[in-house]
Amino acid sequence: MIVNTKEMLTAAQQGNYAVAAFNVYNQETVQAAVRAAESQSMPVMIALGERYFPTVDVEGFAAMVKAIGAKSSVPVALHLDHAYEKESIERAIASGFSSVMYDGSKYSFEQNVEQTKEIVSIAHIAGVSVEAEIGSLARGSFSDEEEGSGTMTNPADAKQFVAETGVDFLAAAIGTVHGMYSGEPNINLQLLEQIRAAIDIPLVLHGGSGTPDAIIVETIKRGICKINVNTEISLAAVSFLKDHVAAYPSTHLSSVMAELENAIVPAMSRFVSLFANRA
Ligand SMILES: [Zn+2]
Repeated sequence: MIVNTKEMLTAAQQGNYAVAAFNVYNQETVQAAVRAAESQSMPVMIALGERYFPTVDVEGFAAMVKAIGAKSSVPVALHLDHAYEKESIERAIASGFSSVMYDGSKYSFEQNVEQTKEIVSIAHIAGVSVEAEIGSLARGSFSDEEEGSGTMTNPADAKQFVAETGVDFLAAAIGTVHGMYSGEPNINLQLLEQIRAAIDIPLVLHGGSGTPDAIIVETIKRGICKINVNTEISLAAVSFLKDHVAAYPSTHLSSVMAELENAIVPAMSRFVSLFANRA
């Protein structure tokens, strides 16, 4: 079933687990994400970034996710990831997305507050929840995201930002990166505790790929309720395609796509199971 993202993440916050938000682009990857969530009896978020709007038909994508989500045995939410333009957000809201992320992290604090506030007022009228980001993630290897400054989230800024904008959940920059880490990950759990103490809305971790499992679990224990996963699934999919086409050069496209879906379900299920924090 398709559900409201705020309700999904509030339940995660109360249950002390995190929902996987998979960046996906087409029917096979959406189906794989839903199958992975169903295998673990966990909710899931389907995330599409603004940067894919030129190649993915947004209204068509939303209709597909709603149709697949309606048949699912687990809660499914449709989320707009990293949107920089108000027009993209309005388009996602009109298409039936459950939540949107407005990324004003490149602006000054004051400008970010002003613009996020406006987005919140537009989204809330439609019953759509809003994620924002304070601080900015750096970009590691194999990432398809914009370069960020790597500035960590300041807990006092986070508190003021949430109070002034009314956002529903906040992405905290605590040392994870978009993509794979170039060196040893340096995740500041103490900073996360300070952010958690300063604000009470669900917290989001971007940069799930390549972060050691033990650290992921510690971030969930400290209030992370949603974790974005993009690069690791993309790497698994591309690696499968390379090997599969090399092994079966005269294969049919329909079977390549079906096998691709089957191949990434285990990689996605591993994240969903880890984020369930059942241990
Ligand atoms: Zn991100």
